[in-house]
Amino acid sequence: MTLLTVQDLAKSYDGGTVFAGVSFALAPDDRLAVLGPSGSGKTTLLRLLAGLDEPSSGVIERATDLRIGMVFQDLALWPNLAVLDNVAFALPNAPKTQRLQSARDALASCRVAELASRKPGTLSIGQQQRVALARAIVARPQLLLLDEPFSSLDPLLREELMAEVRRLAGEINAALVLVTHDVFEALALARRIIVLEDARLAESGDLVSLLSAPQSRMLRQCAAQIEKLRVRKVE
Ligand code: ADP
Ligand code: MG
Repeated sequence: MTLLTVQDLAKSYDGGTVFAGVSFALAPDDRLAVLGPSGSGKTTLLRLLAGLDEPSSGVIERATDLRIGMVFQDLALWPNLAVLDNVAFALPNAPKTQRLQSARDALASCRVAELASRKPGTLSIGQQQRVALARAIVARPQLLLLDEPFSSLDPLLREELMAEVRRLAGEINAALVLVTHDVFEALALARRIIVLEDARLAESGDLVSLLSAPQSRMLRQCAAQIEKLRVRKVE
C-alpha cells in the first residue's frame, strides 16, 4: 500500500522555480527526511504534500481520506486560545466533550498535560513544540509532516524531543516526513532521504549509503562534518 505518490512535482513563483522534477512515494511506515539548504524549497514541498498549496505542475496522489498532521516551521499556535483549545480546534467535526478529551489525551502523549489552560505565549519554546506536536497528532494522522521541529531547541531538549517523536510516530502508527537542514536529525529519525538542491531533487535513497558517496553539495558537506567528528573522537 502507498500513502502518497509524488510525480514530477514542480513549484514556481513569480520569482522563479523553487524546484522541479521531484518524485517519490511514501509507504505507511516510512520515515523520510527532506534535507536541503535554507531556501531550497523544503517548506514549499511540505505545504504541497499537505494540500495547503497547489503545485505548478506534476501530480500528488494521496490515499483515500488520508489523514495528515503537520507541525509548521513557525508552529502557528493561536496566541489567544488556551493550549487545550489550540489542540481541540484540530478536531472540528467531533462533539465538544469528545474533542476536549482527545485534546487532553494528545497533550498527555506529548507529556504536557499540565499546560492545558496556559496560553502559548507563556510557554518555553520546547513546550510550544510539544503543544504543536499534540495538535498535529490529535486527529490520529497516518502521515505526520514536521517542518524543522527541532531547530530552535538546545541540544539536550532536541535529543529529548527527537526520541519523543520517534515514540509517538510508532504509537500512532504514522509515516513521518521530517524537513531539516541537519544531517544528524535526519540520521536519528529517518531511514530514507531526499535532498533538495539547485531547484531540483539532487539525490535520494538510504542516507547512510548516500553519505559514503555523496553527489550533492549538501551531503558532501554533511559527510565532511561527520568525518571531522570522527577524527576528533580518535585524537
Ligand atoms: P526552505 O524551507 O527550504 O528554507 P522555502 O520553501 O521556504 O525554503 O522557500 C523556497 C523558495 O521559495 C524561497 O526562495 C522563497 O522565497 C520562495 N517562496 C516560498 N513561498 C513563496 C511565496 N508564497 N511567494 C513567493 N516565493 C515564495
Ligand atoms: Mg523552511
